[in-house]
Amino acid sequence: MIPAAFEYVRATSLDDALAKLAAARGEGKLIAGGHSIVPLMKLRLSQPKVLIDIARIPDLSGIREKDGRIEIGAGTVHHDVASSPLLRERCPVMCDAASDIGDPQVRNRGTLGGSLAHADPSADYPAVMLALDADVQMKGPSGGRTVKASAFFRDLFTVDLAPDEIITGVQFTPVRAAAYAKLRQRASHYAIVGAAAALDAAGGRIRAARVGLTGAGPCAIRLRTVEVALAGNTASTDAIAAAVQHAAADLRTVTSDMHAREDYRRAMVPVFTRRALEAALTRL
Ligand SMILES: Cc1cc2nc3c(=O)[nH]c(=O)nc-3n(C[C@H](O)[C@H](O)[C@H](O)COP(=O)(O)OP(=O)(O)OC[C@H]3O[C@@H](n4cnc5c(N)ncnc54)[C@H](O)[C@@H]3O)c2cc1C
Repeated sequence: MIPAAFEYVRATSLDDALAKLAAARGEGKLIAGGHSIVPLMKLRLSQPKVLIDIARIPDLSGIREKDGRIEIGAGTVHHDVASSPLLRERCPVMCDAASDIGDPQVRNRGTLGGSLAHADPSADYPAVMLALDADVQMKGPSGGRTVKASAFFRDLFTVDLAPDEIITGVQFTPVRAAAYAKLRQRASHYAIVGAAAALDAAGGRIRAARVGLTGAGPCAIRLRTVEVALAGNTASTDAIAAAVQHAAADLRTVTSDMHAREDYRRAMVPVFTRRALEAALTRL
């Protein structure tokens, strides 16, 4: 449980972090909150030669609204997301998800960017990012780029992020009628199944719905069949109950582990998808 020897350096700005990452020539790793990378290093599953601390870069954290879009810096800790008055007012699903991540220690150190980059299959934010159709912003040696959340999460611990790139933040249009529901592991609070739902409705009808699912498989996915079943339907609990029956159609590989067997996870997906959609409905 002792990591291999490494050099520790602290970056003072985003450009400084990028330069330090480039200088490490593929042997460097970023550390933000350290709640995922440190356990990996202790198990020697990750053995960086250089650990680049990005936790104290001021411009990397913060929550703001600009031109009707919410921007959250990658270095923003879960506690700040959970307690943001702006998010509570404009997009409460972010506060719901962040406030139920781990415990106070994890929420005070763990960051949004670290969670997205690590892409634990049971992490909460990925489902919410999918439901909000968020843009993930990153910067590398050749400049910045933006990737839709639906293209960012690719497979188990695998995202569209090069080793020399740094996630700088996320951007999304706030949705008030959105909610998150999870069946959590008792000890860690990671999602055994977690569903995030966002509704766009008018005149008692659902114009569009987005549903992100985490915990069930190797990476977070959209439940597109449920979304299609809801679009154009009445904004009602009956329509939701009918739509979630289609959830199985979107499930590919379903995880079976010591926390829950595959058949249990399969059974819980429609239950928690319905809960998220019903909670979103009450916020319409
Ligand atoms: C006891 C415990 C309980 C937890 N419970 C939950 C839970 O209920 N729900 C949940 O979602 N998560 C949970 N977590 C995970 C927690 O949210 C972590 O904080 C998060 O997964 C990683 O964030 P971090 O800032 O600690 O990243 P770090 O551990 O510092 O880094 C993780 C990885 O991301 C990379 N990285 C970090 N920042 C960036 C960046 N800006 N750009 C590119 N790469 C970057 C690092 O190089 C590393 O590979 C738990 C963790 C612990 C220890």
